[in-house]
Amino acid sequence: MLRLNEVKLPLNHTEEELPAAILARLGITAEQMKSFTVFKRSYDARKKANIVLIYSVDVETTDDAGILKRNQRDTHLMPSPDMEYKFVAHGVNADGKQPRPVVIGMGPCGLFAALILAQMGLKPIVLERGKTVRERTKDTFGFWRKRVLNPESNVQFGEGGAGTFSDGKLYSQIKDPKHYGRKVLTEFVKAGAPEEIVYVSKPHIGTFRLVKMVEAMREEITSLGGEIRFEQRVTDIDVEEINGERHVRGLHLASGEKLATNHVVLAVGHSARDTFEMLYERGVYIEAKPFSIGFRVEHPQSLIDQCRFGPNAGHPILGAADYKLVHHASNGRAVYSFCMCPGGTVVAAASEPGRVVTNGMSQYSRAERNANSAIVVSISPEDYPGHPLAGIEFQRRLEEKAFVLGGSNYNAPGQLMGDFVAGRPSTEFGAVVPSYKPQLTLTDLATILPDYAVTALREAFPAFDKQIKGYFKADAVLTGLETRTSSPIRIKRRDDDFQSLNTRGLFPAGEGAGYAGGILSAGVDGIKVAEAVALAMQAAESL
Ligand code: FAD
Repeated sequence: MLRLNEVKLPLNHTEEELPAAILARLGITAEQMKSFTVFKRSYDARKKANIVLIYSVDVETTDDAGILKRNQRDTHLMPSPDMEYKFVAHGVNADGKQPRPVVIGMGPCGLFAALILAQMGLKPIVLERGKTVRERTKDTFGFWRKRVLNPESNVQFGEGGAGTFSDGKLYSQIKDPKHYGRKVLTEFVKAGAPEEIVYVSKPHIGTFRLVKMVEAMREEITSLGGEIRFEQRVTDIDVEEINGERHVRGLHLASGEKLATNHVVLAVGHSARDTFEMLYERGVYIEAKPFSIGFRVEHPQSLIDQCRFGPNAGHPILGAADYKLVHHASNGRAVYSFCMCPGGTVVAAASEPGRVVTNGMSQYSRAERNANSAIVVSISPEDYPGHPLAGIEFQRRLEEKAFVLGGSNYNAPGQLMGDFVAGRPSTEFGAVVPSYKPQLTLTDLATILPDYAVTALREAFPAFDKQIKGYFKADAVLTGLETRTSSPIRIKRRDDDFQSLNTRGLFPAGEGAGYAGGILSAGVDGIKVAEAVALAMQAAESL
């Protein structure tokens, strides 16, 4: 099989033009090409009136070696790499003498860690503090509609994790030499995602599909002997010291139950603040890490589509346009767009009472009228010095201020972009209708953000207008606050075996531990850590 990259065709090409272009590039006849599949499809929209589709294809031919030789100079032609996932261990713990591995958290990281462990025959136990995805959906919608927050069942907590009510973007910029991302996407397709996610350059699935996929993956894990327990919050960890080394020996649950285990995947996400506090108390090594703060910005999606795609706006292959913006402010702060949701809505994403935090989501169709994105300012432990968990308190204080400014009823505080930059409170909406539920209270967001963030953000919006004409729009709506762009801590692990720096048997993983950001990278990290658990259990058998 041959991989041919950079096959370029116009946006509106016919079906026949792709095989014709492949034959022309390879200099072969139709008879010499047995079949082909599209490996990746992206687009180049730099010339809006002349958008080009760029394909990478895998081609099966009658004479791979001869074709490669004849096209030696084509740097975009090579043998197709073997991207099939291979398990690192087989038959580990077949006699069941070791306690079963436990995965804490069933977000994308925990889900993939549990799936891979189950596929390797290791029968993991998954402990998830929240409810099944259907029950959780009811609680989350209840919060949005009736302002009743369930601290254990919400946008952050429950089956599927933080990304369940999301845009379902499935791409990442992580280095992935072992093609784990492909395994994640392939498993998602098996669980019901559209097949296109494996070949389009920026796949997304939207929130409703994710719900069904998570259920299908749960079934596979249990059918392989895994066990998934909901409403099981881990409240403590048993650590035994042997010859100066700390070893995990078990977990305590909120129900009072104790579970013996020597291998724990800690995939609790970035909002498990109580769990971070417990781990710190138990002496697990944790350090503060940078994250970002700011707010969600809403524009009409049509403005973004026009700016990105010009006369091709609305083309079905292109879909609703996204954007990525960065501005280096004169006070040294970076301001950037994050988790952009084309044609989506801004969501209330709190998990603690008396606090307000926002995020964004969309459906597969991305058909809502507004584009939304977080616009955030980078901050670092120097902004919250003194304690490894100080970033959590920093987040909490901001979220409390947002709650109060919104009216102490889970309304989010909001402001129009023009007013924010001009330094005056907003009193009336313009043409952009905000999507946040339950509601937005117009106010002055500058009163609750640190001065350095306000200065940097005020400078960024006019600067962004140079990248997207019309972005600095007087009546674009800002919704506060974004505080959970990533984890404020890192639970450091060793590079060689992925175990905590000072606690053997504890495998910090995913976004909460500071090793992922987003659904795909969290899933990839889950796979890596599952492999590390299997190898550790294999090694324990040979002792
Ligand atoms: P999480 O998904 O946070 O999962 C952690 C799980 O652990 C939770 O289910 C929680 O209930 C459980 N847990 C926590 N503590 C305990 C405990 N003590 N005991 C038992 N269980 C516990 N990323 C993208 O790539 N694309 C997007 O489009 C996107 N949109 C998003 C939209 C929203 C509204 C949000 C909130 C996030 C979005 N993200 C998106 C980010 C993405 O969801 C996260 O990066 C990802 O979910 C992290 O995965 P994780 O498994 O590490 O942690």
